[in-house]
Amino acid sequence: MGLLADNDDTPYLELKSYWHETFERIFQDFSPDEWSLEPTKTPLEGRTFQDSAKVKFVCECGNSWTSMRGVVIFWFKKIGTESRREVEIQREEDNDDAEAVRVSNKKINKYSLRFKLFGQQCRTCKDEDFKLPRWYREEVDKTLENVHHKIGEAFYDFEPRETNTSKRFGRPTQPHDANRCQACRDGLCRR
Ligand SMILES: [Zn+2]
Ligand SMILES: [Zn+2]
Repeated sequence: MGLLADNDDTPYLELKSYWHETFERIFQDFSPDEWSLEPTKTPLEGRTFQDSAKVKFVCECGNSWTSMRGVVIFWFKKIGTESRREVEIQREEDNDDAEAVRVSNKKINKYSLRFKLFGQQCRTCKDEDFKLPRWYREEVDKTLENVHHKIGEAFYDFEPRETNTSKRFGRPTQPHDANRCQACRDGLCRR
């Protein structure tokens, strides 16, 4: 599905470039509106969309675990409008000297999309820090497609549709540990 047709299904901690590449590819149909994607640590104002994925956690103590409740929350809103002058030079096909210059003002809407990936604590070493989740590429694809469609419904007249809730196959050996889940602690872990 993605542009990267390799078979790399390792869950990565630092998938920054993959999030951005996938975002650029999926969101290009909103052009000429401009969308920007950035992570955030604190909740923001605006509309929200919450999704979850199968993720993996690796602790420095050597413990690692997978979770079907890797929570991500997106915040999105319009941040402004910019008027852009576009100059177009048109030439007549059989007469190089005949030129027409067309100047038009195009309105470009600017939007911000922020997201936060929620962590979990290690149960073995009891380190208080929330470990950062490692995401699989296919889960990044799914989640960005889901939020793209939600935004489409909010701003671009997309037909409403069910959010894709499929996940990589997983059979967690332990039940979800709400006490060690950052999203549960914040009252946000829903499914
Ligand atoms: Zn640990
Ligand atoms: Zn939770």
